[in-house]
Amino acid sequence: HRTELKRFLARPSRTLDGEGFQLYGNAELPAEFERCREARAAGIGLMRTEYLFLGDRLPDEDTQYRAYRAAIEAMEGRPVTIRTLDAGGDKLPPGLAVTQGPNPALGLRGLRLSLAVTELFREQIRAILRASVHGPVQILLPMLTDVEELHQARRIIDDCRRELQRRGESIDPGLPVGGMIETPAAALAVREFAPLLDFMSIGTNDLIQYVLAIDRQDEQVSYLYDPGHPAILSLIEQIVLAGREFDCPVTVCGELAGDEAAVRLLLALGVANFSMPPASIPAVKKSLIDARAARCREILARHRARPASGRQLLGELLRE
Ligand code: PEP
Ligand code: MG
Repeated sequence: HRTELKRFLARPSRTLDGEGFQLYGNAELPAEFERCREARAAGIGLMRTEYLFLGDRLPDEDTQYRAYRAAIEAMEGRPVTIRTLDAGGDKLPPGLAVTQGPNPALGLRGLRLSLAVTELFREQIRAILRASVHGPVQILLPMLTDVEELHQARRIIDDCRRELQRRGESIDPGLPVGGMIETPAAALAVREFAPLLDFMSIGTNDLIQYVLAIDRQDEQVSYLYDPGHPAILSLIEQIVLAGREFDCPVTVCGELAGDEAAVRLLLALGVANFSMPPASIPAVKKSLIDARAARCREILARHRARPASGRQLLGELLRE
């Protein structure tokens, strides 16, 4: 069975009708670096770094450098996308002197928190830049809502680069900087963001939460969670189109990218890069190599002309 799985994972990533796609792994903990490689992921599409910050003491620059280096070395030359701290919301590091606001999901989280505690952000950026000599790395900024935040973050990254060069450290000078498109503001204004970013990653978990106004952790409203909602479809489509217009690659890294049916929906919307927990890679690969992209687009077009439930749409896509 293992050799069969290995042979299957080595097959080209192409749909039945010949459209290419790439599968990346999400890593939340170090144990997943190896799993991404074993699943033959094209790289780590989302390295969540929150785990480093959840202890009582915050990690220093060297501790972070070693963690990022471990991910890069595990991937043996395949790119690693490191997301800067996405704390706040439900996960506030105990070592941070920041108080939780009245509505954490709308409070000081993600990049907002990093820009409020810039010394912590600088340490993380320096650690990533230093690790970049060990293999290809990209920086991913979470929770963008305003281009000014992006300008600010980029200035800090440039500053850190110069600081390290002054220290005589060797770093990758052209390290790409991308952004998570996961708030309604970033999705609706994606044509403002795309020209300023080297790549975009759609965070469907937060995008769906904020667009449909359903708390992603509240079971009572989870019945409203619908990736086939016209608002979600049109936003993802706009992001894909902006990516093409501005030559800015788009990946989906939210949970939808690890779901056999939803990846066919994303394929129909023009998505070709998917990042998911490594355990989901075999099933997603099977779903996509057995799919005809043209058929998926037809099913989606029919659904949009006469919307039915998202569940119906996903069922139909899975049966195609
Ligand atoms: C997302 O929001 O879809 C995402 C990938 O990030 P997280 O789940 O860590 O918020
Ligand atoms: Mg998110």
